[in-house]
Order: sequence, then structure tokens, then C-alpha cells
Amino acid sequence: MTTSPELQNIAEAIRARQRFVISSHSRPDGDSIGSQLAAAYALRALGKQVTVVNAAPAPPPLQQFPGVTDIVIADRADGEFDAAIIMECGDLARTGVAGMDRFFVINIDHHPGNTVYGQVNWFDASAAACGEMVFDLVRALQVPLTRDIATHIYLAILTDTGSFHYSSISPRTFDICREALEAGVDPVMVARNVYDSNNMGRLKLFGAVLSAMQIDSTGRIAIVYLDHEMARQAGGTYEDTEGLINLPLTVKEMQAVVFFKQTEGDEYRVSMRSKGDIDIGSVAKEFGGGGHKNAAGCTVTGPVDALQKTFIEKIEEAIDGRPAHR
Ligand code: 5GP
Ligand code: MN
Repeated sequence: MTTSPELQNIAEAIRARQRFVISSHSRPDGDSIGSQLAAAYALRALGKQVTVVNAAPAPPPLQQFPGVTDIVIADRADGEFDAAIIMECGDLARTGVAGMDRFFVINIDHHPGNTVYGQVNWFDASAAACGEMVFDLVRALQVPLTRDIATHIYLAILTDTGSFHYSSISPRTFDICREALEAGVDPVMVARNVYDSNNMGRLKLFGAVLSAMQIDSTGRIAIVYLDHEMARQAGGTYEDTEGLINLPLTVKEMQAVVFFKQTEGDEYRVSMRSKGDIDIGSVAKEFGGGGHKNAAGCTVTGPVDALQKTFIEKIEEAIDGRPAHR
């Protein structure tokens, strides 16, 4: 297990307090949900009082995991707490939940560029998922690894490594997964719940978006696009696009994918994915977003044709500028 002074500080801060609110980024993913709930169960095992608050609900496939339907959805943290544990957020604003700054803030994150906004901070960019850090926290708090805690840690790792596709994976990742399985996690059930919970609207939406997919002139970058009208016609919702971004990369030649989702008018949510050494995180950062080497995002405004051209240029630079392959 990794022990660091930062982890010891976090464990001390938790032991010394009783009432906790735990939050993560808006539009939570498997790592946010898994990290939050694993921590919530561990703290409750210590007799602590824990409320989990997010700005938006978990995607439908994740609703099937223990405790997810008990998460409070709110844009403000009401009530009195001794501390706020913020996970997976480079800054406090990314929670989308106001009022967290009233509390003692415990910042636990693995995103490069974390702004160290907590009263105590623990930041480890080498962790493939925030869930890996929570595993160490559970150990530091000397809480037994129950099946529910282990399931959420495994969920965090499975999803944040793009089901074991990203270069962030380390031997530690598999050590933790092995311990999770020994604690009773059913990896088949987790994978089926996460990846095989499609409905027809979602499949049709995938079809519509993939039919309209474009490829850059070098044949290495896929550009996918979705607006409200396309979603309406296909009978799917924006939430249904979760996971769609990974499909273009299943083509061998494809090195990166960029997905533009219209939010309002000329504003787009941009999600990007890449293979191996291609650093898509630095591209997202140039546009005020962030993320990791192989998975990142940002929000941009402008005419979509011009935006697509700009992103393709930046991604081509990232592909051509990467270190020679090992
Ligand atoms: P997704 O494409 O699934 O929305 O996000 C992929 C990764 O990039 C996640 O780790 C997420 O936290 C990060 N990310 C996505 N959008 C943003 C953004 O607007 N700002 C920052 N800082 N990170 C983002
Ligand atoms: Mn994460």
C-alpha cells in the first residue's frame, strides 16, 4: 500500500471529525460515484455521519450500484457538516454544488493541474482512478474492505481506465483489483451493469451519431457530433451517449476521437479520447478544460465547423509531437 504524508493528514482530518458531506464533479462518472460511495461506506463503518451530494444524477447504468439512488442531487450543500470531502475536482467550482467553502475542505484528486484548494490536500496524478486513492484511504483508516466498498473501488477503476485501455494503468491497479475480487466483487456483474445496460433509444442514437461521423484527412482522428435535433429524431437523450466516444477508437487505425455535443446555441461540450502516448489532456487544457492524457474534455463556443477544424489541428499536433513509441 502507498502511504504518504498527505494520506496520513487526510486520515487524521477524517478521524478527528464526525459529520461529512462528500461531493464530486457535476455529470459524475464511474470514478466519481465509485470513489464517493466507497469513501461514504468506509466512513460510516467508523460511525461517521455522511451525506453524498452531487449537482447531477449518475448515468442510468450506474444507478444499479449500492447506495447510488441515495445520493442527494442539489446545487447547494444545505445542513451543517464538520468537513467536505471533494473528490475528482481540480477546483471547488467543478462540483457545481455551492456552499462547500463554508466547511473544512478535504481535497482528494488525481487530475493533473489540481489547484490545491483544500485545508488538506491529497493529489496523486499517478493513480489510474481516484478509486485507487480511496482504496489506500480505506486501508489507512483501518476499515475492513467490505463487498460494497470493494465494488465501488472496482467500478471506479474499471470505468476510469476505459475498461483497462488507458496508459494510466500500473501494477498497483491490478493489486487493488485483486483485493477487490477477494473481498467479493463480481467483475462480470459490474461489467454487465456498466456496459450492457443499453436501451433501444440509446442504440439508435449511437447509430445516428456514428452514421454522421467524420474522419480527418490523415485517417487517424474521428469527429463525432450531436445536437438536440439529432437526439430528438433518434429518440435518445444526451445521457444515452455515455460510452459512445470509445467506439471510434475500436478501429485499429484510429488514434484519437473528439465528440462535440451541443449544449445551447453555439456552445458545445467537447469530450476527447486518445490511444497510448497521445496527450489529449493538454489539448483540453488549451481550451480551458482538463482531464488526463487519454481522456479529457472542455466547453467551447463558436461555429461548429471552425471549432472542429481547430481541434483537428491541435490533435494532429498532439499525435505528431508525441514521444517515439517504446
Ligand atoms: P468526459 O469526456 O468523460 O466528460 O471527461 C473525460 C475526463 O476529462 C474526465 O476525467 C473529466 O474529469 C475531464 N474533464 C472533462 N471535461 C472537463 C472540463 O471541462 N474541465 C476539466 N478540468 N476537466 C474535464
Ligand atoms: Mn477520475
